[in-house]
Amino acid sequence: MHEMSLAVAVVDQVEAAASSRGAVGVTSVELDVGELAGVVADALAFSFELACAGTVLEGAELITRTVPGVARCEPCAADWAVGMPPRLLCPTCGAAAGELVSGRELQIREVRWACPDTPHERQRQPITEES
Ligand SMILES: [Zn+2]
Repeated sequence: MHEMSLAVAVVDQVEAAASSRGAVGVTSVELDVGELAGVVADALAFSFELACAGTVLEGAELITRTVPGVARCEPCAADWAVGMPPRLLCPTCGAAAGELVSGRELQIREVRWACPDTPHERQRQPITEES
């Protein structure tokens, strides 16, 4: 299950960060999840709770922000929201999408620590998922 390995990767990374800074607990973890990343939010929330058990993240809240899929057309430089199911032809000229500007993100956006002096930390860290 994709969400479980993703949740484990998030917990591993936050745990490593927590131990390097001596944090005693984590109150919340905010993730950017691209609309096209193929992640089911409910399954991720469930997996996250399981993955957190017995770690410094136990009881931490998972906040997921959905990043909309946006594609760009090379010939006419139009950007459009890809949506779901993805629309990969340019609505202006009909060419195939040259690139995805966003929508495949899977990254840790922010971690809130339980220590009072530095209550939170912004970090944009890609999730390195073991396959
Ligand atoms: Zn176009």
